[in-house]
Amino acid sequence: MEKLIVTVAPTGSVPARKDNPSLPLTPEEIGRDVYECFRAGASVVHIHARKNGMPTSDVSAFSEIVSEIKERCDVIIQISTGGRGREGEERASGLALKPEMASLTCGSVNFPTIAYVNEPSLIEFLSERMRNLGIKPEIEVFDTSMIQNAITLQEKGLIAPPLHFNFVLGLRGALPATPKNLLHLVESIPLGSTWTVSGIERHQLPMNVLSIIMGGHVRVGLEDNIYYAKDTLATNVMLVQRIVRVAREVGREVATPQEARRILNLR
Ligand code: ZN
Repeated sequence: MEKLIVTVAPTGSVPARKDNPSLPLTPEEIGRDVYECFRAGASVVHIHARKNGMPTSDVSAFSEIVSEIKERCDVIIQISTGGRGREGEERASGLALKPEMASLTCGSVNFPTIAYVNEPSLIEFLSERMRNLGIKPEIEVFDTSMIQNAITLQEKGLIAPPLHFNFVLGLRGALPATPKNLLHLVESIPLGSTWTVSGIERHQLPMNVLSIIMGGHVRVGLEDNIYYAKDTLATNVMLVQRIVRVAREVGREVATPQEARRILNLR
């Protein structure tokens, strides 16, 4: 089996300090936290930017975060192009920094209280921008249909194989976090693709463990789950350390950023 790529998603756009006081929000907090996660075994970081605690797509906010991370370590930086209710150019703004990767959600989904709308034109716009800037998309999959949408983008020449998928499981309104669903997703992607799993909330650990055994990769972090255990709040480092321990216990070594670049076919 390939070495395990551990992605950390330290901040996201939803959690707040009042929910978990360890949530890193400012560029410096994110930089310090990511460095600790890197030391614990994370090789990719999925970043969102905040301004006064609120989500923003502002390029200067992303730029500060990227500098804070880069001056500390060489983890692969993946900028989120998510952003409910924001327009295309705004959502693409962080791509100007030419991160190695960026997220690309290939369809729309109902989140618990709001629709996360990604129209076909927006998806094509974002993927074209990534292609032109040499950024590898991580295809965010909330539903099986999004895999087919990604394959269509590949047929149009907007994204290049081998594709990399992130299966988001356990979000209310999207695919439930079950082994059967994960297996179905894995069997539905093109041969030669790489994949990782993001289990939401209490599903993070079991879905990650399943992925380790199945040969996939994992995403941990407070973006998806603020708890370490029932009634115990997590920190990003605790979540990285735990999944690295689990992986090693079952005989799966953990990839360095350089090894992750090779596995993900980054140039
Ligand atoms: Zn995200």
